[in-house]
Formats: sequence, structure tokens, C-alpha cells
Amino acid sequence: MKNEKKRLSDTVAALKELYPSAECALEWGGVDPWRLLVMGRLSAQCTDARVNLTCRELFRVYPNAEAMASAELSELEALVRPCGLYRRKALDLKLASERLLSVYGGRLPDTMEALLTFPGVGRKIANLLLGDVFGLPAVVTDTHCIRICGRLGYYPESEKSPEKIERILWGLIDPIESADFCHRIVFFGRDVCRAISPRCGECLLGERGLCKKYAAKSKRGKVRGKA
Ligand code: SF4
Repeated sequence: MKNEKKRLSDTVAALKELYPSAECALEWGGVDPWRLLVMGRLSAQCTDARVNLTCRELFRVYPNAEAMASAELSELEALVRPCGLYRRKALDLKLASERLLSVYGGRLPDTMEALLTFPGVGRKIANLLLGDVFGLPAVVTDTHCIRICGRLGYYPESEKSPEKIERILWGLIDPIESADFCHRIVFFGRDVCRAISPRCGECLLGERGLCKKYAAKSKRGKVRGKA
């Protein structure tokens, strides 16, 4: 295997070829950062597609932080229910909206430390906000990133700690590429390196010698669909 930084840099380049535009899978509109905070919170243990669908109605009823801060909790719960864990999520969203207004005058802060003080905001959401709203380096360790980077071999596949994985990736990736890499890997995880039945035989990363799982499978003659 190549030097790990070089291997990750080549992986970044290959994903750029596959997904030239690195877009956030959460359709927050790019205008009001509060919306991305809301969607990030709702995405815990829920699919991006469901969050996108749920938020069409949610943002129609509560178009901004002011409206959500003064929401009836039971009504907010009913609207976010399709995303699961709805009681906790609704409470977090109401409290986070209140905090945004009362402490930050409605402007989202641009530091990890400050973002982590918002109810329901962990490092994953904070990184998402730093990368997408402020254009800062950000490693978003969501389920796709954790699974795929494990398969690629940057840590054992059994490793599931987002904090540990974030630290490992920070040590390898060019910070400028980090946020877009995490967006691209979400689409790659849906299209190719799926949770069940990854399409290794059609995978550019495998073909280019960038994936340790592929190398191991290849050795055993187990790469299906390989031309
Ligand atoms: S070769 Fe297979 S395991 Fe490796 S990244 Fe591609 S699809 Fe995933």
C-alpha cells in the first residue's frame, strides 16, 4: 500500500472525478445556516431523504429560528416525528433556536467550541456547519464516512468511534479537501460502497489500488463483477 496520506489524496482525487460537484445531501438551501443545524439534528439515525422530505413542511410552518423558538412543543414534535427520536429532537431544536437568538443574536457562531454548546449539536453537526456555512476545514464522520474509510483501510472496520475516526482522518487529509470529501463520500456510499453488497467489481477506488478491502478480496478471488 502507498503512503497513507498519498493514498487518501489519490482517493480524494478519484472521488472528485466521480462527483465533480460536492453537494450537501441535506437540502438546506444555502441561505439560512439555522436550517442546516435543524436538518443536521434531525438526521441522527434517520436518512437524508427523509429529513429533506420532513423539512419541506417543517420549514413551511417554522421558516426561521424565531418561529421555532416560540413553537408549541407538541406541534413541533408532531412535525419531526417521521425522523424518529422526535421528543428529544423537537426539544433540542426549540432550545437551540432559543439559544441562537438569545445568546448569538440569530447569527450562528463559527467555532467548534461555541457550536457544541447548542442542544443536540455534537461534533458531526458542528463539523457540517463549519464546512458548509463557513467554508472551514471539516471532517464529518457520518455513517458512510465511518464505513467506507474503514473498508479503505485507514483503521480497522470494527472501529466505530466517530471521535477517534475524526482524529485519524485529520491526520491524513488535506484540510482544504476535507469538507467536500465528506460530501462526496456520502454519494459514493449510496451508489457504490453500499452498506450491504458493495459494488467492488465496478469500483474506481478498488481498481486504482486505493482500497485495502478490495486488495484482500482480490487476493482471495472474491471481487464480484470484475471485468
Ligand atoms: S472496492 Fe469495494 S469496499 Fe473498497 S471502496 Fe470500492 S466498493 Fe468499497
